[in-house]
Amino acid sequence: MPSSPSELHGKRFPVLDKGYVILLEHMGSDERVVDAARVSTGSKTGVDPERDRSLIFFLMENKHGTPFEHVVFQFAIKCPLFVARQWMRHRIASYNERSARYRVFEEEFYIPRRADIPPIFSEADLKEYEDVLKHEHEVYQRLVQKAQPYKEHRQRAREVLRALLGTAYYTEFYWTINFRSLMNFMDLRTGTGAQWEIKQYAAVIADIARQVVPLCYAAYERYVLKKPAAGDLEAGLR
Ligand SMILES: Cc1cc2nc3c(=O)[nH]c(=O)nc-3n(C[C@H](O)[C@H](O)[C@H](O)COP(=O)(O)OP(=O)(O)OC[C@H]3O[C@@H](n4cnc5c(N)ncnc54)[C@H](O)[C@@H]3O)c2cc1C
Repeated sequence: MPSSPSELHGKRFPVLDKGYVILLEHMGSDERVVDAARVSTGSKTGVDPERDRSLIFFLMENKHGTPFEHVVFQFAIKCPLFVARQWMRHRIASYNERSARYRVFEEEFYIPRRADIPPIFSEADLKEYEDVLKHEHEVYQRLVQKAQPYKEHRQRAREVLRALLGTAYYTEFYWTINFRSLMNFMDLRTGTGAQWEIKQYAAVIADIARQVVPLCYAAYERYVLKKPAAGDLEAGLR
C-alpha cells in the first residue's frame, strides 16, 4: 500500500503477456467527495471522520452519484484491439488512441497462456494461432514497405493495410474517467459475464481505485457489488 496515492503515478502494472495499466495522474480523494457533497450546507470536512465516512456510504447507498464525479483518473492502457473495442463502449470517459494511419503497427500481438484457454487446445493449436498472426504482420509489413518510397501513397497504404491485422494486435490509449463512471466500468467488467481478458485489466484498475479512494471504494463494494463489509460478516457469525 503506498503512503500516498500519488506514489502510484507512472507505475506500470503488467496485464496479459504484453499489456499494461499505468495511472498517469489522478485528481481528488475521499475528502473531496465529502466536500463536494457538503458545499450546499457549508459544513466542514475532517471535523468528525466517522461522519465523513457515513456521508460517503449514505451517498453511495442512495445513488447520489454526482459527488463521486469530482475524483478523476487518467490512465495509459495497452491492450489487444478486441479488449479496446469492449472498453471503448464505455462512453462516459475520454479516449485518445494510437493511430494506424500515422504509425506502423509493431509485430506485437496477444498470445494467451495455455492455462488460460480451454484444455482441449494443444501447444500445436496455439502455435497455429501465433503463425496466422505472424503471417498477417509479414504481409502488412511488406506492403507498407512497398508504399514507403511514394510519399503521396504512404498514408493511404497504412490506413488500408491495417485491416490485415487481427484484433489480437496491441493498441495503446489514454483514458480519463471520473469515479462515478469508473464504478460502472468496474462493476460491468469485473463481473462474471465479462470476458476473461478485460477482467484482468478491470481487476488492476479496481485495485488502483481502492488505493486512491479507499472509503468510496468500500462503499462501492458494499452498495454496488453488494459485498458484505467485514463488520457485517462478523455480525453474521455471532
Ligand atoms: C458482459 C458484457 C457483455 C456485453 N455484450 C454486448 C454485446 O453483445 N453487444 C453490444 O453491443 N454490447 C455489449 N456490451 C456492451 C454494453 O452494452 C455497454 O455498451 C457497455 O457495457 C458500456 O456500458 P454503459 O453504457 O453503462 O457505459 P457508458 O457508456 O460509460 O455509460 C454510463 C452510463 O451513462 C448513461 N448513458 C450513457 N449514454 C447514454 C445514452 N445514450 N442514453 C441514456 N443513458 C446513457 C447510462 O446510465 C450508462 O449506464 C456488453 C457489456 C458487458 C459488460
